[in-house]
Amino acid sequence: MQLHSAHIMSPEINTRLPVLESPMENMPFNISTDQDGGRCLILTPGFQLTSLDPGQALLIGYGKYFFLHDDAHIEAINKLDGNHTDIEIAEIVSCSRDPLDILVFLHELEQMGICTDAHSNGLAREALSFWNGQDYTPAELKKLYSNGVTIHSIHSGLSKELIQKAVQRAGIQESSLSPALQIVVTHDLFDPKLDEIATQNYINKLPWLIAYPVGQFPLLSPLFIFDDGPCWTCLKYWLRVNQPVEEYIRRVKGAAALSPIQEVQPTVRLFAELAVTTVGHTILKSNNKNDHLLVLDVKTRALKHHLVKRRPQCAICGNPEFMKEQAYQPVKLNNVTKISILTKITITTSCMP
Ligand SMILES: [Zn+2]
Repeated sequence: MQLHSAHIMSPEINTRLPVLESPMENMPFNISTDQDGGRCLILTPGFQLTSLDPGQALLIGYGKYFFLHDDAHIEAINKLDGNHTDIEIAEIVSCSRDPLDILVFLHELEQMGICTDAHSNGLAREALSFWNGQDYTPAELKKLYSNGVTIHSIHSGLSKELIQKAVQRAGIQESSLSPALQIVVTHDLFDPKLDEIATQNYINKLPWLIAYPVGQFPLLSPLFIFDDGPCWTCLKYWLRVNQPVEEYIRRVKGAAALSPIQEVQPTVRLFAELAVTTVGHTILKSNNKNDHLLVLDVKTRALKHHLVKRRPQCAICGNPEFMKEQAYQPVKLNNVTKISILTKITITTSCMP
């Protein structure tokens, strides 16, 4: 088995352990002892410990490999079964070691997402396990339940409920108090209510995105941020450009000629898990920026990300006078280098920028 050198735990982890000569209350970080006798810890689902030669073991999970050759550390991990508190584990395995050494070791494991509080519900542990496998630390994951999302559905049906359940499974808090963003569920991308929501969220400075979980191509919009495009108006323009037939019908027959797409539960379920995962990543990213349209092809199960460009002339996020101003600008020609694929000859030419 090939070991990932970046994740070798021991002896490197030993060298990172602080020299603990001060009492616990003076430690530079907090080891929670909010329950009498300590907290029950359990190995995070997805990790497993495999013994090798005496005194050696491998901890593996989520493509990471940790080599251990410290008997006390190996025994401590073996006790992460949810039946022992951290203090009990420290006492059991610390015959020749300072119990604080073991407590610090357990604390580091918890910070790395390798173990978690056994008293948290199973769903939370699974979510932690899921995100930990994508290299988010437990500290970063607090964003998922400290900010959370609010979900609003324009149309009746089960779509909202199914997306809510996916949100819960992903460990994302659903809350209307200071949400990180709003998910708006719609079965019609051109429903006028979306314009009202866009205006309201712009006023409230609430980031939001659209979940369209129906049809052959369910999609999740970019995150619309009040002071940074692309905005809903930009996306609506590009959608119209890419749906010439539907757009023709709307122009000839009116917007009401096209009914909202009827939901199909397997499609909504398939889409919901993918969409909610993307929402989670958006919340966890430091700048929350997401300017890609996520489109699922239900027929092929292919998932595509399309960059949505902000339109400089957009009335909402751009300058409505942009085109007019450009019209009065003189034409500028720049030299650019083109490479012909057929002849492999480099051609220098001039063209419009
Ligand atoms: Zn815009």
